[in-house]
Amino acid sequence: MTDFPSPSGRSKSAKSLAFALFRPVLFAVGVIAFALGGLVLTHRSNPEIAALPPPPPALAPQPTAPAPAIVLADPEPAPPLSSADFKGFEMKPADQAVEAEPPASDRYELTLRLERGDTVEKMLADIDVPEADRKQISEKLQELLKKKKLAPGETIELLMQTMPDQPDAPRVLSLSVRPQPEREYIVTRKDDGSYDAEEKIYKVSPRIVRVEGERNGSLQQSGMRAGAPSAAMIEFIRAMSFDVDFQRELKEGQKFTVLLEQLVTSDGRVTHPGRLLAGELRLLKRTVTVIRFRPQGGAEGFYSPQGESVVRSFLRTPMDASKITSRFGMREHPILGFSALHAGVDFAAPPGTPILAAGAGKVAMAGPNGGYGNYVKLQHTNDVATAYAHMSRIGPGIKPGIAVRQGQVIGFVGSTGMSTGPHLHYEFHRGGKQVNPLAQKFAMRAAVGGKDATRFQALARQYLTQMKNAPVVADRSPPNRRSLPPRKSPRATERINACLARARVGSA
Ligand SMILES: [Zn+2]
Repeated sequence: MTDFPSPSGRSKSAKSLAFALFRPVLFAVGVIAFALGGLVLTHRSNPEIAALPPPPPALAPQPTAPAPAIVLADPEPAPPLSSADFKGFEMKPADQAVEAEPPASDRYELTLRLERGDTVEKMLADIDVPEADRKQISEKLQELLKKKKLAPGETIELLMQTMPDQPDAPRVLSLSVRPQPEREYIVTRKDDGSYDAEEKIYKVSPRIVRVEGERNGSLQQSGMRAGAPSAAMIEFIRAMSFDVDFQRELKEGQKFTVLLEQLVTSDGRVTHPGRLLAGELRLLKRTVTVIRFRPQGGAEGFYSPQGESVVRSFLRTPMDASKITSRFGMREHPILGFSALHAGVDFAAPPGTPILAAGAGKVAMAGPNGGYGNYVKLQHTNDVATAYAHMSRIGPGIKPGIAVRQGQVIGFVGSTGMSTGPHLHYEFHRGGKQVNPLAQKFAMRAAVGGKDATRFQALARQYLTQMKNAPVVADRSPPNRRSLPPRKSPRATERINACLARARVGSA
């Protein structure tokens, strides 16, 4: 950080001299920027905005802002361009260009956005950069980008300078674009007026953070509002759904915590908003916790802190949304009129609702089957089979002998056979006998065992602790504020474009 020049006047360079000259301007600019900073803060409290990836911190600009040094977003030694400088420029163009009263030499930062159908060269032409310069710059940039194209909406950071003798032909001292957080392309003007290009790669490393929230509306939305990425929330909900009955157990105001692994560049930009490591949902009577783990030689999955896989061998219900209308057991038969064993479970659902294979297996039967109507039976193991009845039609490609995956569509809800209305009659067969499906599936979960057990226990302990004390992502304070490059709001860019347009009209 550059210090305010001491009053003893050791102005070693033209830079600090220029700074001294513009001190009153900088002060005014700082005051305005402070007010704008306040606006930006208010803007951020909007929940829609809060759900977006971490925005840059609102730097409280001070009148003694850093001297306008040439900063090429080099994270280690120098802070990048501060928003105070930027906002300052925003207010200046009127006297700068329109009044045609050029200051001795002025440097300013500019953030522009590529529009649809725009090119860097066109954009530079719009701000009156001389043709020779903009040709060189765009050539140099293209060399770096090779065949890659910059997307519309891409942000271009510029450090500009106007010379006293050429007030209408600003120079580009540097241009930088960062299409990915870990890659920055910089074109810099050399003393002889030619341009150099360099690609800067930022190191990316993981960082563990937690998001705490309260359920208010959907769990996914609540998580996103609290700062978790949507993909992590979906994974969290899916991991919970094997165990939690969302309709009955989930209430407003219930608290949850998710532990995320983010990827962050060396200068604090988040390249991955966070992979779910663990999560905790505090229900009315119990707390459900899931832990991500990869057993040796196995696939990654979620486990309870006791080391049981959350995934059950069979789906809780072989349909997406359904209501149980008749359970397993003795009942008065709705059509036959006498008491008999209801050998399965009935799920009510609109006709045509897809029916999913409750587990992986092989199709044993598929076709009309008397009172069962259109019927599919899946053999999962020698011992275990499931059956699905009254389908309106059988799923595509479902034929005896075909292998199915868990969750594959095997048919559609209907009312064929002896049925009073559209529903799925679902049976679970064990050793050739029908048993209660709802009582079966809970016994069937994989557990962490053998060599994995110790490793899992250590990891589970670590995650449980981190869910209490890892840095909270919601407070959005990056570890090093200084190292975060400024990101301007689109509105600011629009305003600046408007200013520039006015300035051009004025000078024409
Ligand atoms: Zn039934």
